[in-house]
Amino acid sequence: MSTITEGFLDHRIFNIVSTAAEKTGVRAFVIGGYVRDCFLGRPCKDIDIVVEGSGIELARAVGETVKSNVSVFKNFGTAMLKYHGMEVEFVGARKESYRRDSRKPIVEDGTLEDDQLRRDFTINAMAFSLQKEDFGALVDPFGGIRDLAAGIIRTPLDPDTTYSDDPLRMIRAIRFATKLTSGERVFRIVPESLESIKRNRDRLSILSKERITEELNKILVCEKPSIGFRLLDDTGLLEYILPQLTKLKGVETVEGKGHKENFSHTLEVVDNVAEYEMAAIAAGSLNNYEYEDGTEVIKPRTGPYLWLRWAALLHDIGKPATKRYSPQAGWTFHGHEVVGARMVPKLFQQMKLPLNEKMKYVQKLVGLHLRPIALVTEEVTDSAVRRLLFDAGNDIDDLMLLCNADITSKNPRKVERLKRNFELVKGKLANVEAKDAIRNFKNPITGEYIMKTYGIPPCREIGIIKEYVKNAILDGVIENRFEDADRLMREKAAELGFNEK
Ligand code: ATP
Ligand code: MG
Repeated sequence: MSTITEGFLDHRIFNIVSTAAEKTGVRAFVIGGYVRDCFLGRPCKDIDIVVEGSGIELARAVGETVKSNVSVFKNFGTAMLKYHGMEVEFVGARKESYRRDSRKPIVEDGTLEDDQLRRDFTINAMAFSLQKEDFGALVDPFGGIRDLAAGIIRTPLDPDTTYSDDPLRMIRAIRFATKLTSGERVFRIVPESLESIKRNRDRLSILSKERITEELNKILVCEKPSIGFRLLDDTGLLEYILPQLTKLKGVETVEGKGHKENFSHTLEVVDNVAEYEMAAIAAGSLNNYEYEDGTEVIKPRTGPYLWLRWAALLHDIGKPATKRYSPQAGWTFHGHEVVGARMVPKLFQQMKLPLNEKMKYVQKLVGLHLRPIALVTEEVTDSAVRRLLFDAGNDIDDLMLLCNADITSKNPRKVERLKRNFELVKGKLANVEAKDAIRNFKNPITGEYIMKTYGIPPCREIGIIKEYVKNAILDGVIENRFEDADRLMREKAAELGFNEK
């Protein structure tokens, strides 16, 4: 044991738990992520407390002292309370034994040591003592501190045991390798662990899709998600989790002509999106648009938007199905954005992701991802820009970010040219938006107004008139103003044979 943990337990909560534990006659320790993140200098607001005894009872005692509500999860034997912005979770130390056919272990009360043995990685199994006599002492039976310094992800037991007991740990290993790797330190899964993951990959079948997807989401919001997806692919897990993505792999060559390697390209785009998004957040230039009780609430984005990451991951998912070769055109993927957008609902269902407006957002971005850059190869007319703004609505900033991230090529001159064009479109978008405010376009002419003006019931012609007015505005024939729209409505209505009431 050592006491190099000074400063890590300054928060008042640790003293309070320590005193409560002494009074209740149990031993308590801070364990897991909080300990790891202290040494890494990463901020951590979740504290896990493991108790040799009842976690729920200690939580109740602490709750009384700090006058805070305690949420009890009887089934899991855990309890949680919030204190000055910290989330503190209490759990009784456990001893677990597993059967081969199930992820549900036989659980008994145990000591700290038993509990540390059932943890996933050495770096996640370290604990700080909260006992008065050795407050803050590090309890590190597996050399977690050494592995942390070396950037090593290793299981406390034989990896085959750890992974087979709970196969989710295989994806967690990859998640931590992705999350903890930074400019300062690379985290690697030890070779015998990687080999074990490959061997145990079929064990994923006993996991629920929800648990897998939760880990995948956590990989996606990392600084460099490609690290995780490469590892998922190398270990064969990706083939099981998201086979559609592995279909993007490989390059076919006909008559000496190859195409872009779409898997690497996709990962590059996801990393670019992550980088550009964080830069835009730092600059305060991105918002989230949410609906609360039917009204739109705009909030500045403060962290990664998971669904933008999903859009990046899936943006080219339609490519394998649309790949063609012709001697004249070479390799083409015509319509891959349409096919890709159509694949999104099924993929979301398969991954047990929500089938609500988040899915629609991803679908929209996949479907529109070629539009901004296509604008520059054609004549950039105001009308084309207005239509893009109209189709993207509030998601235009995310779409532009994705489109910028999608500019990857081995040829630096090509990248430079595309980036220049991209800036051109961006400028044009800003001009048109400032002038015409299309982003939140609402047709000045409503169906109700038409019905009232002409004393007619709902009918097909109302749609025709509205569409006519909308197109005239988007094409710049008239301004986005009620008077102009009203005049046009009357012209079209007369043409269709309606007389004012
Ligand atoms: P994060 O910062 O991502 O929350 P964390 O280490 O706190 O990282 P959690 O998923 O919150 O990760 O889990 C808390 C702790 O519980 C871990 O540090 C680990 O000790 C243990 N743990 C969680 N899940 C498992 C698992 N499936 N198998 C073994 N131990 C686990
Ligand atoms: Mg945690």
